[in-house]
Amino acid sequence: LVGTLTDSSILKTKVYIGGEFIEAADGSTLEVVNPATGQRIATVPRCGANETRAAIAEAATAFESWGRRPGKERAAILKRWYGEVVSARDDITRLMTLESGKPLAESRSEFDNGVASIEWFAEEATRSCGDVLESPDRHRRFMVLKQPVGVVGAITPWNFPFSMITRKVSPALAAGCTVVLKPSEDTPLTAFALAGLAERAGMPRGVLNILTGDAKAIGEALVKSESVRKIGFTGSTTVGKLLMQGAASTVKRVSLELGGNAPFIVFEDADIEKAARDVVGSSHRNSGQTCICTNRVLVHESIHDAFVEALTKRVAALRLGSGLEAGTTQGPLISAAAVDRVEGKVRDALAKGAVAACGGARPSWEAGSPLAGGYFFEPTVLIGGTVDMRMFHEEVFGPVTPVYKFATDDEAVQLANDTQYGLAAYFYTRDLSRAWQVAERLEYGMVGVNEVAITSEVAPFGGVKQSGLGREQSKYGLAEFQDIKTVCLGIG
Ligand code: ADP
Repeated sequence: LVGTLTDSSILKTKVYIGGEFIEAADGSTLEVVNPATGQRIATVPRCGANETRAAIAEAATAFESWGRRPGKERAAILKRWYGEVVSARDDITRLMTLESGKPLAESRSEFDNGVASIEWFAEEATRSCGDVLESPDRHRRFMVLKQPVGVVGAITPWNFPFSMITRKVSPALAAGCTVVLKPSEDTPLTAFALAGLAERAGMPRGVLNILTGDAKAIGEALVKSESVRKIGFTGSTTVGKLLMQGAASTVKRVSLELGGNAPFIVFEDADIEKAARDVVGSSHRNSGQTCICTNRVLVHESIHDAFVEALTKRVAALRLGSGLEAGTTQGPLISAAAVDRVEGKVRDALAKGAVAACGGARPSWEAGSPLAGGYFFEPTVLIGGTVDMRMFHEEVFGPVTPVYKFATDDEAVQLANDTQYGLAAYFYTRDLSRAWQVAERLEYGMVGVNEVAITSEVAPFGGVKQSGLGREQSKYGLAEFQDIKTVCLGIG
């Protein structure tokens, strides 16, 4: 692995606590696997509650000075970090592909989006400001200060090993908070690389701590700690609920980015080719493993057959393989268990009357191919979807596009909202009043109208219903790391 990197010092396989790269106290380790081959690529420390408490103590000490520095000083360090990270783009994107399986082109796009958060929040650190309010009387004046909430516990998933970290850590550090981060144990190398570059950028000791290990033990130590004042989490709704419950014991703030069940409505006046292209982009990005991936395509009955033809042609042209190889558009899923879960949902849909227009099974590789040990599933289109299928209600998190029919706008909106989730929704139409009406009626935190690339460092990202709480990115995301303090000054 080291030989494949331009700068071998990017590869770190120890946890980063109090400015030092260290092993777990008891020396135990975890294996990191390349999901395209099933082969081990590294081992990393398996920490628990003790190391987490040590990291929290470091972050709490660092907060005393980091939180009081002028925003301009924090911005300068964030900008240096940004510079170091940008110059390591090739090596980091290679690590991202090796440990997550996503094609290099997708790693690069995630990198570019993620690094933009570091730069943008560095700039915001200098611009955030409080308020002076108009007083109702002569003898008092009211001011509002924005202050960092304190130590932040951040927990991130494997599907975006880079950008889920930068979009939490950058606003936290910009606001003056310090961080204890637990990345996914499936993709720790990208996280540790970011730690090494923070150190190179002169990030003071304890401001950013990163550790891997027993997720439950680390999570519990973070939520129970009195010093940790906020939990930022991206992952499953099940774990999000556990963390929210745990955070209640100390009344911590929580920001939760949880599961989704994104509908993509194709109205009868949509540009069919464009809609088909964007359904593929949104449904098959990262092999379907993103929380804003299209999970249900709702198509008007009058254009159903033409749309399915355009969609199937595009999905059938996707190329499955190792993310490191040029020409691969679809990588593996993250684990063997993930393939089992996707296969189970596809079988359920087929048993309930869906038909596979393409894909629908695991691929068969040539004998001796290194990919035979990888966790692959064929890009799939299912037609004849019905609401009794599990995948109508559950996130598939795999390369599967189920298509359902509708007849009226009301039915489309009702089907789209018929879920416990409310993260992202998309719809395609050329009718301006329909665009506005449907955007208002969809119970989602983010709506893409004739667009699926809905994320940006400047735009709030987050969900309603059981998709989460709070917003990341943008000025709203910075506010999640700030407490508001009212100062009332008596002036006689
Ligand atoms: P996913 O299905 O995306 O893997 P998870 O919610 O299982 O979603 O994982 C997201 C993150 O939450 C990962 O970093 C994982 O290690 C962590 N995690 C899993 N279980 C727990 C837990 N009980 N407490 C805290 N973090 C957890």
